[in-house]
Amino acid sequence: MRFQDKVAIVTGGASGIGLATAKRLGSEGARLVLVGRAQDKLDQAAEQCRAAGAPAVWGSVCDVADEAQVAAAVRGTLERFGRLDVVVNNAGVMQFKPLEEQTGADWQHVLGVDLLGTFFFIKEAFLHMKPGGTIVNVSSIHAVETSPLVASYAAAKAAVNSLTRSASLEGKPKGIRVNAVLPGAIDTPMLWDNPNVKSGVEKIDPADVGRPEDVAATIAYLASDDAAFVQGAAVRVDGGRLSQL
Ligand code: NAD
Repeated sequence: MRFQDKVAIVTGGASGIGLATAKRLGSEGARLVLVGRAQDKLDQAAEQCRAAGAPAVWGSVCDVADEAQVAAAVRGTLERFGRLDVVVNNAGVMQFKPLEEQTGADWQHVLGVDLLGTFFFIKEAFLHMKPGGTIVNVSSIHAVETSPLVASYAAAKAAVNSLTRSASLEGKPKGIRVNAVLPGAIDTPMLWDNPNVKSGVEKIDPADVGRPEDVAATIAYLASDDAAFVQGAAVRVDGGRLSQL
């Protein structure tokens, strides 16, 4: 029970990797705040987390790209649970378009959710977490290597890796650890809805497809005291896909 008496926020916690992470943290004792955009989906996810053993779950409707809504979600967490120990910045969006068809608004949307959302929660965590707090950012192997049509996503995730390094440096004197995971191909709707995967532009060997629980286990490790000396790391969870020439 590595998260007994602890309070964890998981953004994008109603589905996919976020839900698997919330269930894992909850099964190890964490009281949970699930951040997402739709109350009904958050309520369904909260039920699953309680069934997995979470002692308490609050579903907070919040657009992570909106600084005031993020501040309100963290305020609500502190009012309900009195503390904040773990933040998992998992909410993300991906957009598929040739570069010449992309607009500034497209980029602002993707960067708003994937990068600024992560920044807003780090800022709030730095303002409110006590020493011992941990932040795990969900990046992607697209931060390192990428495919056509997803320039804004690849740029956002590369920036999340950079933000993880900066935040780990500034978090260290506060006693706050900041790390990132870089999932490869993970069996969630985001993977199978991917037009590059559907069209075959991006080929994925079935042996290289992981489960949300694989990523959740790594996130739980990084968020736990087992990783007490892991700071500023970018941990690939891709079954070795990026190692292949
Ligand atoms: P998903 O679509 O199930 O999860 C994304 C979650 O983010 C959803 O719950 C969605 O509602 C939420 N979200 C989106 N915009 C939001 C906003 N503005 N405010 C609040 N919540 C918002 O897909 P997933 O695969 O579980 O993705 C989770 C994370 O993992 C993402 O950051 C994604 O980039 C990353 N990732 C996924 C894969 C993969 O193969 N599935 C690979 C690498 C990285």
